[in-house]
This record gives sequence, C-alpha cells and structure tokens, in this order.
Amino acid sequence: MNAEPHSAGLERLRFDNRFVSELPADPVTDNYRRAVEGACYSKVAPTPVAAPRLVAYSSEVASMLDLDASDCLAPGFAEVFGGNRLLAGMLPYATVYGGHQFGNWAGQLGDGRAINLGEIINRNGQRLALQLKGAGPTPYSRGADGLAVLRSSLREFLCSEAMHHLGVPTTRALSLVLTGEQVVRDMFYDGHPRPEPGAVVCRVAPSFTRFGHFQIHAARQDLATLEKLVAYTLTTDFPALGFNAQAPLAARKAVYVAWFREVCRRTALLAAEWMRVGFVHGVMNTDNMSILGLTIDYGPYGWLENFDPDWTPNTTDAQHRRYRYGQQPQIALWNLVQLANALYPLIDEAPPLEAALDAYGETYQEAMHTRMAAKLGLRSLSGADDEALLGELLGLLAAIETDMTLFFRALADFQPGADDSAVDIDAFLRLVAEAYYVPAEIDGAYRERLGAWLRRYAARVRADGQSPAQRRATMHAVNPRYVLRNYLAQLAIDAAEAGDYGKIHELLDTLRHPYTEQPGREHLAAKRPDWARQRAGCSMLSCSS
Ligand code: AMP
Ligand code: MG
Repeated sequence: MNAEPHSAGLERLRFDNRFVSELPADPVTDNYRRAVEGACYSKVAPTPVAAPRLVAYSSEVASMLDLDASDCLAPGFAEVFGGNRLLAGMLPYATVYGGHQFGNWAGQLGDGRAINLGEIINRNGQRLALQLKGAGPTPYSRGADGLAVLRSSLREFLCSEAMHHLGVPTTRALSLVLTGEQVVRDMFYDGHPRPEPGAVVCRVAPSFTRFGHFQIHAARQDLATLEKLVAYTLTTDFPALGFNAQAPLAARKAVYVAWFREVCRRTALLAAEWMRVGFVHGVMNTDNMSILGLTIDYGPYGWLENFDPDWTPNTTDAQHRRYRYGQQPQIALWNLVQLANALYPLIDEAPPLEAALDAYGETYQEAMHTRMAAKLGLRSLSGADDEALLGELLGLLAAIETDMTLFFRALADFQPGADDSAVDIDAFLRLVAEAYYVPAEIDGAYRERLGAWLRRYAARVRADGQSPAQRRATMHAVNPRYVLRNYLAQLAIDAAEAGDYGKIHELLDTLRHPYTEQPGREHLAAKRPDWARQRAGCSMLSCSS
C-alpha cells in the first residue's frame, strides 16, 4: 500500500458503519467465491492497483461529503478512491443479494465488483454510503474478475451526475479513477477480447440496498435474516415510518405494508421520470432496482434519440426487448411484484400488498399526466380529448424518425395564434426541423396528420390560457436541452482512451444545467449524426463492462 499524503478533508470524514455493525456478517473473511448464507455481507478489501489517477470528480458530490477541490485534487484522493488505501473508519465489505435476471430467478448474485467503504455522516447529519465499483473480486464475483473498464465507468460517472441535474432520482458518482492497469473485455461477446484501461468509480447514495437484497433471504426461506434486513432498512433508510422492532406483530406488519407502499410510490415516480427524459435503463433486473427508488447500476443504458417505444440499447436483450423504453413502467411493476413475494412471509396477507401494487399504477398515471402536461406546456391533462391529443403526438413522433428531446424543446417556441387560420404548418416544420433525422420522410400524409394535430394542440394551448412566457418556462423546466446522448458519451470515451479527458469535463459541466441554453455548446445538444447510427457504444451496447 502506498503512503501518499491526503488532505485534511478526507481525514475528517466521519464513518458510522451501521450496515456492518447491525447486520449479520459472513464469518468467513477469506476472499474466494462462495455462497454466503445467514448473513448480509462479507468483509473484503479493495485490491490495490498499479497507478491510480484521478480523471474526474463531481464537485457537488464532494461537497455532500464536506470535501472541497483541494481535497479531491490531493494525490491521496486517487489512492483512496482507486482502492489502494483505506481511511481510518472505513470497513470495506460486499453485500449479498439475489435477483431475477431477464425474468428468471438467478439465485445469489451480490456485490461482485462493488466494495462498500463504509457510511459517513456529513455536516448536515445526512448518511451517505461510499461504494467503489471495479475495485477487485469479492466472494460474490462468481466467474468474473471484479474489475471495470474506463468505457463503462465513464458512462456511469457522467450519467449519474447528468440524471441528478435533470431531477431524476439516482445514485451519485464522486470520482472516476484510472487504475493504471489493463482489463481484458470482449465487448460484444463475439470472440474479440481486447485490453482496455481499468477504472474505478466511487458511487455515493444514502443506501445501495436493492430489491434483490430481500429476495435472496426469502428464496432461501431464511426469514430471520430477512426480518433483520427489513428492520435495518426501515430504521436507517425510512425513519419517517416510525418502525419499532419491539412493537406487537400487528403494528410491525402495518409498517411493513406502509413501507412497501412507499417503495411502490417511489418506483412509480422513478419510472415516470425515466419516461419524461427518454432514459432507457437497459437491465431492469430486480437486483438493479433500488429500494429508495433511485436509478442504480448504469450499464448498457441509453437515451432515446428518435422516439421509438420499442428501442433498447442493450444488445444482450435485442431478441425479446424486455427492457425497451415503452415497457419500463410495466417491468418496474413486475419487479415490485417480486419484491412483494419476498416480503409476503413477513406480512402473511396478500390484499394489502395487492393494494400497494394497484397504487403503483395510480401513482405512475398521475405522475405521467403531470409530466406530459408540462412537456406540452399545459396546466394539466384530463379527459379523453387530452389523452387523444397526447397519444396522437406520440404516434407522430414514432411515425418518422423524430428526436424526442429536440422536438419537445422546440415545441416551447410554438405560438398558437388567435385561431385555426393562424396555424402555419410550414412555419412549424421550420421550428422543429432540427428534430427530424430523415427530412425526406416528411411526406404529404405526414404533413396533413401533423397539421391536424397542431390545430388541436393550438386550440388546447389557447384554452389553457397561460401566457407565452409562462408556458415556455414550464416547458423548458421539464424538456431538457442537453442529455447524455449515446454518441456524446462514446466520443468522450474515444478521447479518454487516447488520453484526452477534456470531453468528460465539458460534458460534466454542460450537463450540470441541462435545461439552460448554453451558447457555444450547441454541438452537445445536436442529434445523433449518421455515423453513430450503427456504431458500437452509440446505438448498441452490451452488458460487458
Ligand atoms: P449487472 O449486470 O452489472 O447488474 O451485474 C449482475 C451481477 O454480476 C452482479 O452481481 C454484479 O456484481 C456481477 N458482475 C458484473 N460484472 C462483474 C465483474 N466484472 N466482476 C464480478 N462481478 C460482476
Ligand atoms: Mg447490477
């Protein structure tokens, strides 16, 4: 281990490792792959790396940890967040979880390449867990190496921060560190392995607990451990629910149900946010679902460019498209049903769980109405006419290749005029011209259909009665100008692999203000260029990372 100096800020981090102190530990402390039963975690240290080097850090996440720029730029920072050095108070561990992968129960998975460093309490009393992704093997690594490459780490680092600034619940990323080592990956599992630069991301969240953490104990009928983990989660992550482990069974059950309802509610809001911004997670396995309703595990995710509800970025899922954009809300519900099954033995009654699952649908619908209304610049969406107005727009967006982000952004500048005769389809097509990938697709039939929609929309906007400035502000607050387009991430990866980190910093900085026009950064709002259509990393990704 290296003894580089690090800053006062790092020394001051106050660790309070409640997960480790309150939950049962795996008694084995050697680091070899195994099934771990009757425990929630195994103690395991990060594997030291050759030459850790900081590529980027998030100043917002640093300040959540009460760290400033000098703390992050001190040489010791990369040592700690590359996995070479533990700070006083860190107690590294990997947790056990299971999960349904692509609809099938997969048994024990666990933190195969995530190592938790511990939980800190910041100046505001907030609890935050720190987790290294790619810091070496753990008992849960199964057949894999526990490592991560620059390509996928950069995507996780940038997207976590971009999502946060878009207002989408997510785990955060403190740092992106190169390890100075090479990691061999076969990107498309097609017999073309190549060495890639190794990297480690430090993720930060109040907790990294997943649906699969509960499922594994239920699947093993280990109700004692399940109950402990539930009690821990309620006390630590959901204190507002007032759980009391000493209360009579009926009272505890009522809290379990209230908690499940809350998880359903948060998951519904998360799904609605993904749909609003055009994010496709790509691998919505139950082990990739956060109990806090955060976006977690950025792998082969992607952003919808042309609006296509059937699109998935994940080539591993190309055949069935289980995790396609348009199916995400239903899959989230399916995942909640699996969580309900896992919690059932503690509650022993189906109706309250079913009621919570019904509430998922209601919350999702309501959240979508609010968000789609705002995207359209309307105060609300209600009734069959509004549903039809929205449905027809989505149909139009899918009818020919239309960029979702650019279309909605430009729509804010549409003026409905005084009456039908003021609606000018040519002027409108000029307004949204940027959004069309293949302008030649705009034929007579499309123009007519768009014109009919536009007249209905104009009438609806007039009836809504907001001032143009108000309407524009509403729309600009929910329709981003900048998202982490797949090809932009790939360009940053290409440059970074060649040693130039400038694009990472430019993206990180731009995506801090995704709703604000940033003169000089138009190139970061541009739709996918033609070369990116079929290029690996831009429109196709795999789970290899
Ligand atoms: P994911 O597809 O990233 O959600 O991962 C599914 C499971 O595989 C989790 O248990 C991960 O920790 C594990 N895993 C993925 N990649 C690796 C790797 N390179 N080394 C060890 N475990 C991994
Ligand atoms: Mg995962």
